[in-house]
Amino acid sequence: DIETVFQTADAASIQHIYKPRKPFSHKGSYGHALIIAGNTGKMGAALMAAHACLRAGAGLTTLNIPSAFLNAVHSHLPEAMCQLRENGLSFEKINAVGIGPGLGTGDDSLQLIEQTLNEYKLPSVIDADALNIISTHKRLSRLITPGSILTPHPKEFERLFGKAENDFERIDTALKKSAELNCVIILKGTYTLIAQNGKGWFNTTGNAGLAKGGSGDILTGIVTALLAQKYHPFEAALLGVYLHGLAADIALEKQSQESMIASDVVNCLGAAFGGLL
Ligand code: AMP
Ligand code: MG
Repeated sequence: DIETVFQTADAASIQHIYKPRKPFSHKGSYGHALIIAGNTGKMGAALMAAHACLRAGAGLTTLNIPSAFLNAVHSHLPEAMCQLRENGLSFEKINAVGIGPGLGTGDDSLQLIEQTLNEYKLPSVIDADALNIISTHKRLSRLITPGSILTPHPKEFERLFGKAENDFERIDTALKKSAELNCVIILKGTYTLIAQNGKGWFNTTGNAGLAKGGSGDILTGIVTALLAQKYHPFEAALLGVYLHGLAADIALEKQSQESMIASDVVNCLGAAFGGLL
């Protein structure tokens, strides 16, 4: 029965999920997010993911980056802390991980992903090149922590799970794989699908201004920030996708679908959170 399998993530259902900040709280109340992202030529993806993570409410945000970009990151995003990739990965005190944007698919990135999947036992957000590496090393998919959130666009989805004849077949596979892997799958598109345990929710926000580089990277940052704030993975996915689209819709007040860029969308997250009330 289609109505028991699919629902829409609209304003009414999202409002129930949102937890306003408490007056008697401190940065520790909102978690410490680690974004493992960026490599030569794709550092923008890391910066955008971390910027979105900061603007989506994480108490602390740390970026794992190649040391060559330390100054660039500190001068662009002074609120973010950095771990130098050459010194290894540390998950100490980290309670949400987002991995993949702009990481590249070389051997060093394969090692980073393998270490993360092996050592980090809480759910994480797995995107972009992290998904591409899992696609070419299928054994890694068995290491994904249950409750993790996979955020493929249709091409990444097909690399992971095989070619689909059409959108319906792809959606069907997403539902099945969400149950099989015990993960939340965000199948991105015009009406993004959030799949969990064989059921699906379609998002209602967003516009074609998001059809531009960087859009997915900021979604990863948003969802990672929500995980850090201890939203249940499914709620983090639903709320994150909704806010991401809503911010893009609000960006249209000053930009057009042509002119908006991912940073504009991040800068509209404040109004998007405000729109939840
Ligand atoms: P990525 O391809 O990883 O950069 O992700 C693109 C993001 O933008 C996803 O969240 C998509 O859902 C969103 N997006 C792309 N094109 C559109 C569109 N035409 N309408 C609404 N959202 C879109
Ligand atoms: Mg992407």
